[in-house]
Amino acid sequence: MKLIQISNLSRIYQKGKIIIPALQNIDLEIEAGQFVSIVGKSGSGKSTLLNLIGGLDRATAGKILFNGNDLHTMSRSGLAQHRKKSVGMIFQSFNLIQSRSALENVDLALTFGGVPRNRRKAIATGLLQKVGLGDRINHLPDELSGGETQRVAIARALANKPTVLLADEPTGNLDSETSKEIMELLVDLNKNQGITIILVSHDQESARQVSDWIVKLKDGSVDEIILREEAQCV
Ligand code: ADP
Ligand code: MG
Repeated sequence: MKLIQISNLSRIYQKGKIIIPALQNIDLEIEAGQFVSIVGKSGSGKSTLLNLIGGLDRATAGKILFNGNDLHTMSRSGLAQHRKKSVGMIFQSFNLIQSRSALENVDLALTFGGVPRNRRKAIATGLLQKVGLGDRINHLPDELSGGETQRVAIARALANKPTVLLADEPTGNLDSETSKEIMELLVDLNKNQGITIILVSHDQESARQVSDWIVKLKDGSVDEIILREEAQCV
């Protein structure tokens, strides 16, 4: 079974009299273990699509099956469970709690995931080691570089062993060298831990280097699907 099956998916925002079709009739299938990127210009619907897959938002129409369960018709508690257990999310703006250390930020995610207190510290420390921050666990976010902060966010996203990591322009606030390091970490997680990754990027060239395939959105619709082999010939 495909991990994610999206059919005829639409998300239409309404602001007063203005109707904004952010996504229209999207059909996509993503298999477990793939590294898929969503690219397209600003406003093309990338974040909207990622947020629907992550259960942060609900579609206006269509189906979005995750492991065969339809997120569109799922109960509120089912969707909360999906957000907690099935997906991990990282963002351009990191979204860490500023008053908490790296360790505490990861610990909090484990708490939400129902991991007992006596196991949390060891798991959180292990996750921070895995992302290369074993010697920074007690630092606050503003005592860390941008790249280190994103690593903490990745550790936090992995806390509850999600099937999929959803990354919305995770290198958008980082310099090119640090961006490369974060992309390498994502590739490593995909290749060596088998985690499925869906990356939103407006940089098609860097997406091309890491992805099995790319979805290009234009005005809320799928404009093009670019496969790896094809991409490498460009
Ligand atoms: P991208 O991530 O590709 O830049 P988005 O998915 O954020 O694009 O947005 C797609 C379209 O939907 C844009 O026209 C945007 O202005 C609109 N949009 C996004 N979120 C909302 C919202 N909460 N309310 C109204 N319109 C929105
Ligand atoms: Mg966006």
